[in-house]
Amino acid sequence: MSIIEDGFQVFTSLTHSIVPAHQSQAQANESDTEKTLATISGNYQINNDGEPVATAILETARATPKNARMELSIKASKIIKLLTKDAPRLEQLGWIQAPNTKLIIAIMAELRERSTATTLQVWGTNTPTHNMDETENLISRSIENPKTYNIHTKVKDKFNTSGLLMSRGTQSLFYKGICRINKGYHKRRLTRMALAMTHHAVREISLETPSEAQIWKSIRNKDIPKGIRGFLWKNLHGAYRLGEFWQNIPNYEHRGTCRLCGGIESMEHILVECEDSPARKLIWKLAEKLWCRRKDTWPNIRFGTILGCNLAHFMDTKKKRLEGKSRLFSILTYESTHLIWKLRWISTINRRLKYDKLLTNASRHGKKALRESLVLRTWSGVLLDEDDLPDNWIWTAGVLVGILPQRFSEHNG
Ligand SMILES: [Zn+2]
Repeated sequence: MSIIEDGFQVFTSLTHSIVPAHQSQAQANESDTEKTLATISGNYQINNDGEPVATAILETARATPKNARMELSIKASKIIKLLTKDAPRLEQLGWIQAPNTKLIIAIMAELRERSTATTLQVWGTNTPTHNMDETENLISRSIENPKTYNIHTKVKDKFNTSGLLMSRGTQSLFYKGICRINKGYHKRRLTRMALAMTHHAVREISLETPSEAQIWKSIRNKDIPKGIRGFLWKNLHGAYRLGEFWQNIPNYEHRGTCRLCGGIESMEHILVECEDSPARKLIWKLAEKLWCRRKDTWPNIRFGTILGCNLAHFMDTKKKRLEGKSRLFSILTYESTHLIWKLRWISTINRRLKYDKLLTNASRHGKKALRESLVLRTWSGVLLDEDDLPDNWIWTAGVLVGILPQRFSEHNG
């Protein structure tokens, strides 16, 4: 009995067909004289090395008239199982689990287009070798020049395979399918932008442009604390939901603007641009002050300088790399950056504390007002200088959460 889910398919290819797969109905030619016999030998596995065998099958099928019988003797038995016994199941799963997917789909389409019998049999020592040279040539050509041997895998729409049946899909299969789609895309726009900014900023200091691989490797350096490594990695991927992410979401647009200056928020804005952030200004000023004790000029810190700080190499007059100086710059940059980010988090928590206090106002919020006792219990034990506060601090000004280092809060206050 068929169920309604069988009528829905999910495609994990961006160029799928909307026509259900067909078997050719063309007139068959059963004459023995037209029959193609081919032997595909070689001890190739189906995985990576299986590609040559699959290529040979595909090319032989293409070279054989569609209405003539074709008998293939193939040494790699796995591919025969895949194209026969396993095919219906793999087809229902959108071929996501099959190796060499593109090639296998192309072979299936070629076989479907054939209007007469195709025999695939396992090659044995007694099997007569038909057209061995030609197929062996195909195999050796594709092995010798895997990059230049261009296998054409385009499939005619009406012989293409169907997508993944909704009723057969599992979470992991859907995930695999999504990964396959994403693989086809170019790098995300935000990642490309972050990498470009890093290239440019590092070149300003080191006078040489790092490769992308060097940038990714530099943020994995064990010298950088683990939490900061994760922070830098997420920033290179543009993974923080800031600014423009919220601006296209109805009712959440306000989250896209900086709460301090009203400008469009971005990580770049928070870390190096916001003129109304006293914490940001103070931290960079302290970093510069410390650096200048070595009688050096503090470089202009951009967003890219932060992402590539571990690649910013300073040289002496003889172009010799100054390891200590470069390392100090890196430490000052990433530690300052991370502190600015953490302080932004604290200000978010403090803003929530402030809202909680305002929401206890019964004359304004009526029945929806928060209970004072609930707010007092929620924040109990995490407030700054809590011992000096009255028991009911709801209407006391300047109550903050107490995670700031004492000296910083005094300096900043
Ligand atoms: Zn701002």
